[in-house]
Formats: sequence, structure tokens, C-alpha cells
Amino acid sequence: MAKQEDIFKNVVSHAKEYGFIFPSSEVYDGLSAVYDYAQNGVELKKNIREYWWKSMVQMNENIVGLDAAILMHPTTWKASGHVDAFNDPLIDNKDSKKRYRADTLVEDYCKKLEDKAKKEIDKAKARFGDAFNEEEFVTTNARVVEYLGKKKEILSRLAKGMTDDLQDVKALIEELGIADPETGSKNWTDVKQFNLMFGTKLGASAESAMDLYLRPETAQGIFVNFLNVQKSGRMKVPFGIAQTGKAFRNEIVARQFIFRMREFEQMEMQFFVRPGEEMKWYHHWKDTRLKWHLSLGLGKENYRFHDHEKLAHYANAAADIEFNFPFGFKELEGIHSRTDFDLKAHEKYSGRKLQYFDAELNENYVPYVVETSVGLDRMFLAVFATSLQEETLEDGSTRTVLKLPAVLAPTKAAVLPLVKKDGLPEVSRKIIEDLKWDFNVAYDEKDAVGRRYRRQDALGTPFCITVDHQTLEDETVTIRHRDTMKQDRVKITELRGIIENEVSMKNWLMKM
Ligand code: ATP
Repeated sequence: MAKQEDIFKNVVSHAKEYGFIFPSSEVYDGLSAVYDYAQNGVELKKNIREYWWKSMVQMNENIVGLDAAILMHPTTWKASGHVDAFNDPLIDNKDSKKRYRADTLVEDYCKKLEDKAKKEIDKAKARFGDAFNEEEFVTTNARVVEYLGKKKEILSRLAKGMTDDLQDVKALIEELGIADPETGSKNWTDVKQFNLMFGTKLGASAESAMDLYLRPETAQGIFVNFLNVQKSGRMKVPFGIAQTGKAFRNEIVARQFIFRMREFEQMEMQFFVRPGEEMKWYHHWKDTRLKWHLSLGLGKENYRFHDHEKLAHYANAAADIEFNFPFGFKELEGIHSRTDFDLKAHEKYSGRKLQYFDAELNENYVPYVVETSVGLDRMFLAVFATSLQEETLEDGSTRTVLKLPAVLAPTKAAVLPLVKKDGLPEVSRKIIEDLKWDFNVAYDEKDAVGRRYRRQDALGTPFCITVDHQTLEDETVTIRHRDTMKQDRVKITELRGIIENEVSMKNWLMKM
């Protein structure tokens, strides 16, 4: 099996080579942790966004959409806590002058302990074969117990240090002998907090300009519009407001491709509920969101919940849906019970009431909020990386195939004339003219048909439709299925139905 690192490299290069993702402003050597979505990437991304929007807004009578501006009144970020608390703990290496996130250095150290434990487990697995009992081994093997125990102890000290005293995080780094990953130097500065928001200015003259921030999350645009939407839409609690849009964070450790970007897109929904009912809704949304992910068929084993023990200042319950990325399980989506923290804070800072009159209870209150927040780019990476597969065929040859869920594929079908003459291109064009009203379809006449199939496989196109001489006689074509490579002879008039059946959002969302 290919190493994780190689798989990941392959994902990045495939994304570039096949026109999914380019580094931003690449002619100037790129901009770190900023990426552009190319001709195929933009389609895949749009389809993911639509899949989310449909399941949230269109399918729920009590959820409506919003598109708030990226620039917001600066007091918003004071109220939300971002000005004071949206920080990363940074540490500099005095010799190399390189800057790192202190918590990440410690977490990377723990990952090594975990890898060591995993190595022992794999070794034992290979030795004992079917008789191997992993659960028992993990709790009894001295070395594994030591590695995992140490990891747990370190992480709990890290968590404490992060809230109580950053100097203890520095002490931990020194005690563990953690060195600068690039130079090996252990000459560290103190750990300092660094705000992740990008600043900008509004106004022409230097004196009168107002300091603004690029929003670090889309949620606040929803909170400040809560009453506008509720009143103008005559919404009744419980109800939700959904939004997709760009967010900006000056991330320090910005590696791992589009997993951690400085400019990214979020898909968030804030669900406003009666105080006291938030736990019921929190569990409801945890469950519903996982089902949405599973409906895409990327494999149940690739998801897990991580329930937070330590909660953010605004939350009374929180969980992540983690996904098995090429570099391990990491956060894909957050589900947070945010209490009435945000609305109360905006009431306090704005001096306006942000309350709801509940006619059934005959009572005014500030609703509680349950949030679901998923990164569109992380979704893209999850889908893309899992779909990219290298297959060995019966004849021993290999093919690269992007097994995207058909509902998300950038192009649904490619129409290929077997040869570039005898009227076959004309018939192909006619098929395209007919299908393009409903689906993204492509035309390809270059190279032998086998090569064209491979090209479409690598782009994730679910169907190839081949027009040959028989087509001229009986108006049939062959339709080839990407995943099985099975080919069927069908009537041209049947094509729409066959494609629709596999790509329709309805059929996919019904699996939820
Ligand atoms: P992390 O712990 O990975 O930094 P977070 O807990 O800060 O993430 P949230 O503030 O809960 O993330 O944001 C919600 C979602 O937005 C995340 O689950 C993730 O999918 C996405 N997201 C957050 N930061 C980034 C980023 N820098 N690049 C891409 N997506 C991001």
C-alpha cells in the first residue's frame, strides 16, 4: 500500500494536473495557504455547496438562507469575542527565526507516540494473524500502554496550559525536548498569543479611515440579522438561518493544502431554539449532519465524532465530525450549542433588543442557538481525496479513477465520436445540444477512445457516451459507466433518464 504521504502528494498533483485546484497567483510563485479553484474544481465546489444548501434550506420549511457582507461593523468582533480571544499560541525559535504554533508542536510530538504504538500493534497483528485481539493487546502490552499513556498525559497538560498559563506550554516543550522541525534547534522564546483576524481599512484618508476586519467566520452575519430575518419572514422558533461564504484567518500553521487555508469558505446554519431545548436540537443536528455526510457514500468508517470536553467560552456542548483525511482523522464540521451568548453579546454592545416573542408561551426571550459549521474546502478535500483511486485491472494494467459521488461530479457525461468523420461528430454534437439543458456535458474527439475513457475517469465523469457507425443506423449509442467500466447499448432517447437517475440530488439526498 502506498504511504499516506505519497497518497496526499498524489491528491495535490492530480488536483493541479486535471484543473481542479491551482496555487493562488502561481505566476508569482503562489501565496501561502491561498488557492484558486480551476475549471473542474469550481464545478465540484459549486455542487457540494448546492448539495448542502438543498438539504438545509430547500428541504426544511423552517430554515431560510442569507448572504451577509464579508465586511461588518467592527464592534461585531468585539461582541463575538474575536478581538480578545481569537488567538493562537505562538512560539519562535531564536536561532532559525521560524514561528510555530506551540500547541501544534506538542500535538506533533504526541502523534509520534501514537505512531510508535501503532507500529507495535501492526507488528503483533502480523505475528498473531487471526488470533490477534487488538483491544486486549492495547491494554496489556507494556510498550503500547506506555506510549498511549504518555500521550494522554501530555495532551491533558497541554489543554491545561492553554487555558491557565502559556508558560507551562513552553515548559512542556522544553521538558519533552521538542526541537525546531526544520533545524533541530531547541532555543525557544516564550509562548505568545497572536490574533488570527486580518485587518483592513474603510475610508479614503488615513485620518478618517476606520479599522475593519475581514470576517473570520460567517456566523456573526447571521446573528446580527437574526431579528431582521425573523420579523420580515415571520419565522417561528425553532427556525434556522443558513449561509455559505468566505471567511479569512491568518493561520500560522497553514499546511496540508486546502485543509487549512487563509481564505476559505464556510457553510453554516444557526438554529434558534427555546432556552432549555437546545440539547434536544444539538443531538438532532449532530445526527442529521452525520447522515448528510454518509449519504455521499464515502464510507462510514471514514467518519467519527469527537465530543469536546473543553468547551469554547460560548458553548455548553460541542462536537466535531472528523473525517479520515490522507493525513489522518481531522475536523471536518463542528456542531456547537452556542447558548444565548452571541445574541446577548450583540444586545449588550449594540444597545438593541434581540429578543423573540413566543406567542405560545406568551413570553419574550433571547433564543438559544445550535450551530452547524462545515468548511466547504475541507468537504472538497474529503470528497476528492477519498475518490481518487488507483485500480489494477484484469489485464494487469492500472487506471487512475476519480470515483466522485455522481451527484457532485463536475461533468456528468462526455460524448465521444468513435472517429472524427462520417458524420459521427455531428451526431455527438446533437446529443450534447439536447443534454446540456439538464447536465454539464463535455465533447471529446481527440485520441483513441480508450485514452479518452481514461481521461474522463481521471476527471470523475460518471458516463461516457460513444457514438459509432451503428448509431447512424439505429440511433443507439454505448454508455460506459465510470466505476464498473460496464458498457451498455442504449437508445439516444434513453440517455437523459439513465443519467438523471444517477446524478439527481433527490436520489442522493433520499439516502439521508
Ligand atoms: P480547526 O480546529 O481545524 O482550526 P476550528 O475549530 O477553528 O478548526 P471552526 O471555527 O469551528 O473551526 O470552523 C468551522 C469549520 O470551518 C471547520 O470545521 C472547518 O471545516 C472550517 N475551517 C476552519 N478553519 C479553516 C481553515 N483555515 N481552512 C479551511 N477550512 C477551515
